[in-house]
Amino acid sequence: MHNQVLAVDIGATKVALALIDESMNVSEKYEIRVENEKDLWSEIAEHSVDIVNRVNGNFLGVGIGSAGPLHLSTGSISPVNIPQWRKFGIVDCFRKTLDAEFVVLHGDALAFAQAEHRLGAGRGVQNLLGMVVSTGIGGGLILNNQVFNGDSGNASFIGHHTINFDGIPCACGRFGCVETYASGPRMAEIARTRGWKSDSPSFIALAEDARSGNATALEVIDEGTRALAVGIVNTLATLDIRTVVLGGGVTQAGDIFWSPLRNHVKNEARFTSFLENLDLRAAQLDRDAGVIGAALGVISEIEALDRVPHLNNQKGL
Ligand SMILES: [Zn+2]
Repeated sequence: MHNQVLAVDIGATKVALALIDESMNVSEKYEIRVENEKDLWSEIAEHSVDIVNRVNGNFLGVGIGSAGPLHLSTGSISPVNIPQWRKFGIVDCFRKTLDAEFVVLHGDALAFAQAEHRLGAGRGVQNLLGMVVSTGIGGGLILNNQVFNGDSGNASFIGHHTINFDGIPCACGRFGCVETYASGPRMAEIARTRGWKSDSPSFIALAEDARSGNATALEVIDEGTRALAVGIVNTLATLDIRTVVLGGGVTQAGDIFWSPLRNHVKNEARFTSFLENLDLRAAQLDRDAGVIGAALGVISEIEALDRVPHLNNQKGL
């Protein structure tokens, strides 16, 4: 007999669904591409009902990690890259569709941070900034070993910190956001405007060309990681914390990303004495961090209520 949670990870380009049990085993994974011409919620609802019908044991509830911004007080979300959802009441939608008592919403990067803190690279760290660097850039905070939502659920909205108020216009409406320099698609786009050519103009191709010594690719990745380093050091300095765990597709490019990032972070932090020995770590949970973190949201809430006491004794929780 298992306790199982439906975990929902809403990113910029896809929505991942999965069942997660109390030992963090992931099953029944399903991915839905985000395309604005289709009714995204209907498709999510249909597959969620189908997956929950296959729960083998107790269905505990739904954990959601979503791209921001979110609005915790109303359980609604307005992901920058999903324009059809503006203040979309996803918590009520799941509550009604699945008749679930517990539906817990967090930012996707906060879900990632919680997963890495409980089970991955951030174990044993009291204060932690978790960051996902991918199609977009998100941040989530663990402070004093607790998830920190902020007033509305958007704490450390780091992708949309501006680092250049005369910079590139961002999809969010501001100028010079970290994301406009350092997300995977933006780095590929900036390289294209400087004459870089590729059969598949993605960040993966850009990183490959940088490894082969392409000067434009190296330059753009250097600038992107510098922008990221400024955002990271600003955030760590604001909070006086020293550990950051980074995951997401861009971070999986290896040394071609990590080496300039480490140099720029060191350089940006060198004037701030309390930021000596910053601890930059790579995520350990790989692609399942999003759904595991989403599930931990609901499991933590139930634990806090002491409704399922034996969960407290599970390995790794
Ligand atoms: Zn922005």
